[in-house]
Amino acid sequence: MRCEEIAMLLPELLGGSLDAHAEAEALDHLACCAACRSELALWSRVKAVAAAQAPPLPPVIRRRVGSALRRQTGSASLRTAASMLRDTALITQKTIRLSLLCARSGLPEGA
Ligand SMILES: [Zn+2]
Repeated sequence: MRCEEIAMLLPELLGGSLDAHAEAEALDHLACCAACRSELALWSRVKAVAAAQAPPLPPVIRRRVGSALRRQTGSASLRTAASMLRDTALITQKTIRLSLLCARSGLPEGA
């Protein structure tokens, strides 16, 4: 795998959601690529900051919100909401990545 390909996998690697094959390839690459290890360290800091700023909801609140949503909406609406959440997470991930790239290159964001 090339560095650009590894870079796209780092958030998932940190989140533990890569499949075993992709994880093994990423770890092999990281073992011999200082640039990607540096990128992984950056993602790790981003993840730590994000976790500190948005602590997870307590399980009892998540259960109540989930059951309220199920009562008030059909399963199609829930699927749409889940899909929108996934899209939002992807956009957030790409925005953070772009911000990191801008910060490293010295460009102002949006330039
Ligand atoms: Zn690399």
